[in-house]
Amino acid sequence: MADSEYLTVKEALQIILSGFDVLSPEVVPLLDGLNRVLATPIVAREDLPPFANSAMDGYAVRAEDVSSATQDKPVQLEVVGDIAAGIVSDTSVVTGTAARITTGAPLPHGADAVIPVEDTSEKWQGQYRPLPDQIQILRAVANGSYIRWPGEDVVSGSTVLTAGQLLRSQEIGLLASLGYAEVEVIRRPRVGVLATGDELIPIEAPLEPGKIRNSNGYTQAAQVIAANAVPVHLGVAGDTTVEVRKRLAEGLTLGVDLIISSAGVSVGAYDVVKTVLEQDGKMNFWRVRMRPGKPLAYGQYQGVPFLGLPGNPVSAMVSFERFARPAILKMAGWSRVERPTVIVRLKEQIFSDGRESYLRAMVTRDSSGYLAETTGGQGSHIMTSLVKANALVIIPEGVKSVAAGVELSAMMLDWPATVF
Ligand code: AMP
Ligand code: MG
Repeated sequence: MADSEYLTVKEALQIILSGFDVLSPEVVPLLDGLNRVLATPIVAREDLPPFANSAMDGYAVRAEDVSSATQDKPVQLEVVGDIAAGIVSDTSVVTGTAARITTGAPLPHGADAVIPVEDTSEKWQGQYRPLPDQIQILRAVANGSYIRWPGEDVVSGSTVLTAGQLLRSQEIGLLASLGYAEVEVIRRPRVGVLATGDELIPIEAPLEPGKIRNSNGYTQAAQVIAANAVPVHLGVAGDTTVEVRKRLAEGLTLGVDLIISSAGVSVGAYDVVKTVLEQDGKMNFWRVRMRPGKPLAYGQYQGVPFLGLPGNPVSAMVSFERFARPAILKMAGWSRVERPTVIVRLKEQIFSDGRESYLRAMVTRDSSGYLAETTGGQGSHIMTSLVKANALVIIPEGVKSVAAGVELSAMMLDWPATVF
């Protein structure tokens, strides 16, 4: 492949994303909708609050009755009722009277304001004393004070959430307030995770000469879970076409929306994933101008989208971040599929080989803005520098050295999707 046939990260991502559509919707119990995308708009069937209620513990009054009230010249009202939250009282507040009321209790007929208990003669001691016959009001309030009116938050018939909106805790809470026990959201993508290589042994097995533990299988499964998708574990295939085919066939029977593999897509003699995909699939083998993570296979295996990540643990994880996660989020209906980026000032000089480089770094903030410092060795097998990192600082293509103090963009690994 000639150098000019190498793809930029942007080109590769664009091609990959164009191969994915939003998955079908499903109705799930409300809490299962967390971190998922709403498939249908929500039109409120009720007002919120549903009825006029008190915003304070205090006394429901008629504002004009207490317009002259001060600390020195309190207004005395006759107490005609005691209204607790959850109870609709038949008490009527007429001129010269008040009803004791708790926060959230329905406003009694006739009252048009609430006086907080602190502004009355009742000595608040964390609990109510017996209902007094009379109450002194120590200040005036405007009509409507401390009342929460029906529909003040949501008016019945209005659209409160739109299709495509991500459900966070607060959206779940709003839906609960409006009586939605179930919600229609985009289903979670199922992602097959396959590791390949004769050198791999299970993580619980004792080390053997020449072998390493299959860490990628866990990293990518964790990344799938972190993207709120469902990992389908396809295990480890040794470096034979027979084994790779067997695992892929198993993946197909388990129903997957995407298969991700690691290793075996480079140019080594045992890169059998490449061989299988060339024979059985519709595949592109790219050399993405990216560091870490040059070899990348993308295409379809028996009609299922397939992404072959590099084998080196850091390359696999970074390639997943750059290409697989956006594809997964697109299937899940997210409109923003890439990690948030911020502009950071470098604390040190950093280097690249001219490919778009993703350097493991810790981003911190001081009064001048965000600062970035690399977290250690940048070799594609050094996991500990990734463990120390909260970001990937991006050196643009064609740049080989960037001086301390220069500003670059950093992809924030841990930031919530709603920060941008
Ligand atoms: P390959 O793409 O097969 O040439 O693999 C590149 C490097 O990644 C080699 O050093 C492999 O041993 C390593 N590697 C491949 N698969 C895994 C895995 N599942 N876990 C950890 N390291 C791996
Ligand atoms: Mg290999």
